Amino acid sequence: MAAELAEPLGCLTVKVLTVVGNRPQFIKAAAVSGLLRAEHEELLVHTGQHYDDALSQVFFNELGLPRPERELAIGGGSNTSQTARMLAALEPLLSELAPDAVLVYGDTNSTLAGALAAAQAQISLAHVEAGMRSFDRGMPEELNRVLTDHMSSLLLCSSQLAAENLAAESVHGTIDIVGDVMVDVAMRTATAARANTEVLARHGIQDGGYVVLTAHRAGNVDDPARLQALVTLIAALERPVVFPLHPRTRARLQDAGLFAELATLSGMHLTEPLGYIEFSALLCHASAVLTDSGGVQKEAYLAGVPCVTLRSTTEWTETVSTGWNTLVDLDAAAALAALELKPSADRPPLYGDGRAAARCVSALGALG
Ligand code: UDP
Repeated sequence: MAAELAEPLGCLTVKVLTVVGNRPQFIKAAAVSGLLRAEHEELLVHTGQHYDDALSQVFFNELGLPRPERELAIGGGSNTSQTARMLAALEPLLSELAPDAVLVYGDTNSTLAGALAAAQAQISLAHVEAGMRSFDRGMPEELNRVLTDHMSSLLLCSSQLAAENLAAESVHGTIDIVGDVMVDVAMRTATAARANTEVLARHGIQDGGYVVLTAHRAGNVDDPARLQALVTLIAALERPVVFPLHPRTRARLQDAGLFAELATLSGMHLTEPLGYIEFSALLCHASAVLTDSGGVQKEAYLAGVPCVTLRSTTEWTETVSTGWNTLVDLDAAAALAALELKPSADRPPLYGDGRAAARCVSALGALG
């Protein structure tokens, strides 16, 4: 970790406007907001990218994220139109609230819109999870990451590799390796998650006797041929399989007439999206996880659960090089082979020590 926790300078309060909009951002902001508000002023803006309770409200309740000061209610539409509507709403908001800094997380439309609105208004921009790269420019998330990093004044990195990616791209802002704020949340809630076996009992599954699966990336569910390949892969798995269905995935399965095929597989447990603790409980008791989520790859590593990633690239490359994560895209045979692999017991900390949020707050203090 490059930066040890600096002593607060003691006087300057920074007014930070944080832009969040989707599930992983609520989780990341939950690590930072409380600490930020203890030392500075924060205004939380929820773009509305994820608006249903299962993907939004549950995380505010469960993880103690403060109620947003502003809700923009901008969901739906294409990536471009959604980002454009967010930008149009953020411009007057930044002018009205006049923050010293804008804070964005991760790689979504809300991240890019918050970043561009701040940069155009000449407001300092801080990006949490800066420098992660899958080098797959076909993914909207990769475009959002790269563009946001090049507009940021403060690039808060989860790992050394992320900082090296940024240095190689000659970004303009200050690079600071702080660790990963999702790791903070996972560490804080690990004991409660491990103790929660209620969710296993509800599904009639045993500790270590099932796999958990998540899938929602546009590249996997929006193209009917890829969606069919996903269903074929899932059908090939040894079950039980627990699959909390993202609303986007449910809708695409229903549109493609594939939902019933999946739902009637024996040993298939389809659920609504789960709250954070319930999902973490399922994850840490599973024999393996299959996912196309970025956050879940990290959380699996932290929990010591082998991960099979349903993509051909990842920005969390460290989890692959340590042998705990295997990229299989949607190849069913490769997924089955990956599930047989036994990672080495060695699991060095990759993304910090659980104190990333405090380092973020300390670095943000310099933006006043
Ligand atoms: N997650 C959750 N409930 C679920 C599935 C996932 O709370 O039913 C959490 C998971 O623990 C992780 C985050 O959601 O912290 C990942 O979000 P998502 O997969 O939507 O986004 P990504 O990480 O791919 O950007």
